[in-house]
Amino acid sequence: MSNSEEKDIKDDKKAFSADVEKNKIRTDTILIGDPHLTDLRIETENTIKVLDMLKKHTDKRIFVKDIRKFANDPTYSGAESYLGAVDGRSDSIIVYLNVSKLHTCEATFVHEILHQILKYEGFPDIVIYNDIALDLPPQIQMVLPKLQSFFSSTIEHPEIFKRMASDFNLDLLPYYEVHLQQKIDRFKRRLDKDFKVRAEYYFYAQQDILDGLEYYSYPPKYREEILRIFKECSPDACASCSFLYDAKIRKIGFNTPALSYESAKIIKDHIIKYGEKKSTGIFNKMWEALEIKKPSS
Ligand SMILES: [Zn+2]
Repeated sequence: MSNSEEKDIKDDKKAFSADVEKNKIRTDTILIGDPHLTDLRIETENTIKVLDMLKKHTDKRIFVKDIRKFANDPTYSGAESYLGAVDGRSDSIIVYLNVSKLHTCEATFVHEILHQILKYEGFPDIVIYNDIALDLPPQIQMVLPKLQSFFSSTIEHPEIFKRMASDFNLDLLPYYEVHLQQKIDRFKRRLDKDFKVRAEYYFYAQQDILDGLEYYSYPPKYREEILRIFKECSPDACASCSFLYDAKIRKIGFNTPALSYESAKIIKDHIIKYGEKKSTGIFNKMWEALEIKKPSS
């Protein structure tokens, strides 16, 4: 390649990144195999490999969309700060990526497709138990889908992080760097929050316990740092989470559908008992409304 050709490519890439920042690039409905993916720099050995793994289970078409489209849905308010999300529909799979963090898109794409693969492998689903949910006030019901996806992520992430490291050739340091920053921001927002009632504070502590379980599967450097911040910002939840992890979850883990199911049940019981001790009342009903579906095989 000549020097001028190299310069042209460099300029194009620069222009592309600038356009993505300004939201000018049409990231909506990009089909895998579309030349736009090469621009997004996510059509790589790793993303092709994860799609080959998925093909063993389904031939659904894959679409990539800007996460900001997803964030328009009130249920997922705040989603624009996520690295990604995935929506498995009956005829297609939509992967949402945070294009303002381009350097994380490849790893996030692999991560989101792995969520789908775990579903096909029979890892437990978290569903909303309607008998309980319908008795709750509407504003509380609205929070349930968020809590449901949060719970689902917590039980799938340890296995996903493990596969991201062992089955792919991804540069995971920048990915975890952004992850860590997001968790720090989450604690910052929480410290700034003005809790109207004591029960609400402990409902957040319950979510901290759930979120905290994920930190144990981060690479050591990031794990230590986030656990230190967790202890500082939410000491009571941190103590409860580390007890839960050390006494039970560490030994069972999440490696197979059956083990993941066992761990999920223990986590749910633990969080509900914590809520009973702290008298979180109606907030505790939300956890009761989450049902862990037993793996079929
Ligand atoms: Zn995830």
